[in-house]
Amino acid sequence: MAKKSSGTGQRCALCGAVDSNTTPVLEIMPGLTLCNDCVSYIETAAKSELSRRQGEQKKSPEKKSSIPKPKEIKKFLDEYIIGQDEAKKYMSVAVYNHYKRIARLDAGLQDSEDVDIEKSNVILVGPTGTGKTLLAKTIAKLLDVPFTIVDATVLTEAGYVGEDIESLLTRLLQACDYDVKKAERGIVFIDEIDKIARKSDNPSITRDVSGEGVQQGLLKLLEGSTVLVPPNGGRKHPEQKMIPVDTKNILFVCGGAFDGIERKIAARLNTHIVGYGHNNSDAKKQRDNLMKYVMPQDLKSFGLIPEIIGRLPVLTALDPLDREALRRILVEPKNAIVRQYVKLFEMDGVTLTFTDEALDTIVDKAIEYKLGARGLRSIVETVMVDAMFEVPSSKKKEFEVTSEYVLEKLQKNPGLNQSASKE
Ligand code: ADP
Repeated sequence: MAKKSSGTGQRCALCGAVDSNTTPVLEIMPGLTLCNDCVSYIETAAKSELSRRQGEQKKSPEKKSSIPKPKEIKKFLDEYIIGQDEAKKYMSVAVYNHYKRIARLDAGLQDSEDVDIEKSNVILVGPTGTGKTLLAKTIAKLLDVPFTIVDATVLTEAGYVGEDIESLLTRLLQACDYDVKKAERGIVFIDEIDKIARKSDNPSITRDVSGEGVQQGLLKLLEGSTVLVPPNGGRKHPEQKMIPVDTKNILFVCGGAFDGIERKIAARLNTHIVGYGHNNSDAKKQRDNLMKYVMPQDLKSFGLIPEIIGRLPVLTALDPLDREALRRILVEPKNAIVRQYVKLFEMDGVTLTFTDEALDTIVDKAIEYKLGARGLRSIVETVMVDAMFEVPSSKKKEFEVTSEYVLEKLQKNPGLNQSASKE
């Protein structure tokens, strides 16, 4: 066990820091004193090197064959995500290619062949709550790689670009216990990428510096370069303790609602949107339909810089979720909310059922409160809380949730329709 020094001017043998309350210098063994920061840096570096060596030992043939094929990836996604077939297909192919590319690098083929397989970062366009984050999360689960979600709007607010953008990778490092090699093959989901769009397509008219600045900073990461990442997102001596991370093989998936992009698509297609801006269901359908035709140039018109668009070669749109999709989301996915509750009750020896009408009512309320798929969980949780409290102590062996029960419990909780917050 290390012995704490008395604080009388001992110095760290590595970085030379003097012992103080904020930077304690420890006597690691007789004659060797190191500061706290250097100790944790060495620990991290040792861990990373160890796992790299372990990884090298069991690399190659079996690893390559363990990459699931696009159809297998899609099948796995189908278990968790309702609809969105097009997006799932694109994502499966992109991820498959990405990992094939990594397998080639692992096998040392990148320089010996003339074809250089480029990185296939993805951009998902679609209304909020339609499964963009879920798609990226599920892929990460399948591939067992570190995964992190970051919000592009935070990067804008910080004003000063450099550090914040790099600290986006701090989260990825944390997700894999600072195993740099693992992080370098991870997936980063950048949410709300549309919020850092510049306000005008023409940079000379409206200089939206913060949006464009963040895009420029992001570009460095998307392109693939070695960046210095602060291990804790911002340490006292960042210049000494930064961890170099190569982003070349990190898969970036960006998502955004791109509200209003339908107009740009319509303009490009020379289509007039009937009744745009009015609450007209035909116009809504038409808008939803247009999303399918989204092209890179529409993202440019929306305010993403061409360099960023070029680094996000896989572009796909997600469909808005209709009533039927919401109904399926309640019960079908492997971890569907209804299934989770059935399991919870089963553990108490109680058979839980929902009538068809009860499920319809839950969906109706999610639509009425404009909560979409995200709201299904909060509604079911509100409905079930009393039963979760009472049933385990009762002698009941069965519990049925009816439409009346749903309405009664929701009436007791009028605040729900204001809680459209993100999970
Ligand atoms: P966003 O498109 O805004 O990233 P999310 O992926 O975060 O939306 O979706 C929010 C929640 O809604 C998910 O955690 C999931 O429970 C549910 N959800 C949304 N879309 C789907 C879908 N297509 N299939 C299954 N669940 C979905």
